[in-house]
Amino acid sequence: MSINETSYAFGAAKSSIREIAAYGAARKAAIGAENVFDFSLGNPSIPAPDAVRASIERCAQLPPNALHSYTPAAGLPETRQAVADSLNRRFDTAYAPEDLYLTCGAAASISITLHAIVNPGDEVIVVAPYFPEYRVWIETSGATCVEVMADPSTFQVDTAAVAAAVTGKTKAVLIDSPNNPVGAVYSAENLADLAAVLRERSEAMGQEIYLISDEPYREIVYGAEVPWVPSIYDRTIVCYSYSKSLSLPGERIGWILVPGTNPEHDELVLAVAGAGRKLGFVCAPALFQRVLADCVDVPTNVEAYARNREALTSGLSKLGYEYIEPQGAFYLWVKALEPDAQAFFEKAKLLELLPVPSDSFGCPGWVRLGYCVSHETIVGSMPAWERLASYYV
Ligand code: PLP
Repeated sequence: MSINETSYAFGAAKSSIREIAAYGAARKAAIGAENVFDFSLGNPSIPAPDAVRASIERCAQLPPNALHSYTPAAGLPETRQAVADSLNRRFDTAYAPEDLYLTCGAAASISITLHAIVNPGDEVIVVAPYFPEYRVWIETSGATCVEVMADPSTFQVDTAAVAAAVTGKTKAVLIDSPNNPVGAVYSAENLADLAAVLRERSEAMGQEIYLISDEPYREIVYGAEVPWVPSIYDRTIVCYSYSKSLSLPGERIGWILVPGTNPEHDELVLAVAGAGRKLGFVCAPALFQRVLADCVDVPTNVEAYARNREALTSGLSKLGYEYIEPQGAFYLWVKALEPDAQAFFEKAKLLELLPVPSDSFGCPGWVRLGYCVSHETIVGSMPAWERLASYYV
């Protein structure tokens, strides 16, 4: 084959989450949306805040040249200033606009960051279960993806297991908290332990180890505190996106922060710019850069997710399902009722229930339910969950 085989393989294998979502859309068209309980995709059901619409309308009045022109590759200075100011207010930091690179969402933030730091043959550690696209982005950057299981009882980072997995080739650890898929929020203590392990191991190996903190769910928490990772570990790079917090997944807008705590900050900032250039990710969507400057402090509407979380967890626990109580994000990690999550999923599918089996998250025996759906979907799905459980008694 003369085309790129790796790209072909990623295209041919498809994302199981998106395949299930496509199946769900087809079933909805065939039998009616109210009869399909699609928990597959992390697509927020909550509308974007009114302030976003107001800002779009204001921006639409700008002269077309001002509105649609290229921005600087790293983004508009006023937007980067607004983001830096907001972070500084919230985390008592002193970031500058130059520390930020605006991106097409977290996918671009993570890809660019990996390309900025990885050399061929490096290793990047992920905490399993993990967002499946991590493997794609890590391997594409030239690194090997090394899976380390989370602590099986708390789903916090198993720091001893991370210590054991670090080698002379480890370039980074990629974490996301609040976590997709289990909903765990890593505690300050857990992150401090991780930081201590990384400092000790990088000293022992004579190699810098970065902590990439992917945080698209930072604002979606149910009472938990989400520690600010750069204040715990110096070599942190933060990847953020407004896909979830402002319900803007299709608009592709986010950022990378290279905090000044990084000893090689200036080189890293240039490497991020260079990686954006290499990958063709220069100048995030200009309209949404402007919207961001207006909306950076608009609060996330967590209430609807909290209500869904309550309905889903109380409904499933009454039916005897085991799950991990989510502290954040909008996913429920439910134990499959048989060891083979795919076989469990196939039975669920026949009842028009569409969770995602855990295998593609690097962990057997569970399914992920995205509860960023309508409340009616959750309530309406309960008879099917009951029927599914009855197959196993
Ligand atoms: N990281 C995690 C943990 C996610 O769950 C997602 C999307 O669901 C992404 C990154 C990608 O986000 P974006 O749509 O902003 O590219």
